[in-house]
Amino acid sequence: MSALRLSDRARAELLRARERAQPAEACGLLLGVRSGDEARVVRAVRVRNRAGGAQRFSLCPQGWMRVELAARQQNLEVLGPWHSHPDQPAVPSALDLAHGWHERPNLIVGTDGIRGWQEQRELSVSSD
Ligand SMILES: [Zn+2]
Repeated sequence: MSALRLSDRARAELLRARERAQPAEACGLLLGVRSGDEARVVRAVRVRNRAGGAQRFSLCPQGWMRVELAARQQNLEVLGPWHSHPDQPAVPSALDLAHGWHERPNLIVGTDGIRGWQEQRELSVSSD
């Protein structure tokens, strides 16, 4: 994966979730469609943060399962996770690197906007 294209809806969902979760981190899953080396992110669905702390996130497994089922019904794929940084740039933290889901594209929404990462490489993120 080298590039992610965000729908207006997904972008709004990410920014809103970050705002609403302050000062904690919000997290969830990216739903979309892959084509070749790119993916279009149609939705950024929020999943309850089981960790609940300001410094890290952990997706609630039941919420994750519900999103997987909903994605299938809409013919969308679960592309990877996203989470917010309440007061840090959208760069993976040491904890993110230790616990992340690195083989999948990740989005982080932080103080400098929305950025994408996979295996510690930054992905190109564009809008529709
Ligand atoms: Zn993080």
